[in-house]
Amino acid sequence: MNRCCLGERLGIFGGTFDPPHVGHLVCAVNVRFRLRLDRVLLVVNDLPWQKIGTRPISPAAQRLGMVEAAVADVEGLEASRIEIDAGGLSYTADTLARLRADSPSDDFFVVLGADAAAGLPTWERLDEVREQATIVVVERPGADAVTPLEGFRWESVEVPGLQVSSTDLRARVSDGRPLDYLVTREVVEWIFAHNLYQDPL
Ligand code: ATP
Ligand code: MG
Repeated sequence: MNRCCLGERLGIFGGTFDPPHVGHLVCAVNVRFRLRLDRVLLVVNDLPWQKIGTRPISPAAQRLGMVEAAVADVEGLEASRIEIDAGGLSYTADTLARLRADSPSDDFFVVLGADAAAGLPTWERLDEVREQATIVVVERPGADAVTPLEGFRWESVEVPGLQVSSTDLRARVSDGRPLDYLVTREVVEWIFAHNLYQDPL
């Protein structure tokens, strides 16, 4: 929904989503609620530069399909293929520039888990990210808060800590352990229909 003139409050939550899980979804809906965002885009990385060479990564079309399936019934959450369409290495500065070209008056909120926030100082063209967006760090109750970077617009949102990771989920599939309640039913069905993560790690 593009509201004339005012612009939207748009969340941008990037990830590999290999596969998307309840940690991602709980994080996105709670950030949307707390910061009154119109929408949160789950932006599927094409080639996650931090992960190249560390493990096989499922094709982007599979990861996008799973995110679309996971958010289909959730108001305000949307899968985004913007980085897949751009192709190649994904830097948030580039994604923000592309979104800005389409939506000059939107307020952008880049949503990060605490682990991803710790890596922020190493990001490519960080000054552009600082100019274009507010950083939103998702913190677990009781955890030490991530220290805001100097000069950034910064929000921190407390979200229930769910100890689930895509890495563990891939291992579960390859060992035959259950995925139920850790990912949505649609994502479980997608994984088995497409034979993802079957190879031993
Ligand atoms: P992997 O295990 O392959 O690294 P992941 O589970 O960490 O996958 P990513 O796609 O790497 O998922 O993460 C995308 C974003 O989601 C990052 O900002 C990350 O910090 C955040 N995130 C990942 N897992 C959780 C979780 N359980 N709760 C909240 N945020 C999470
Ligand atoms: Mg990760």
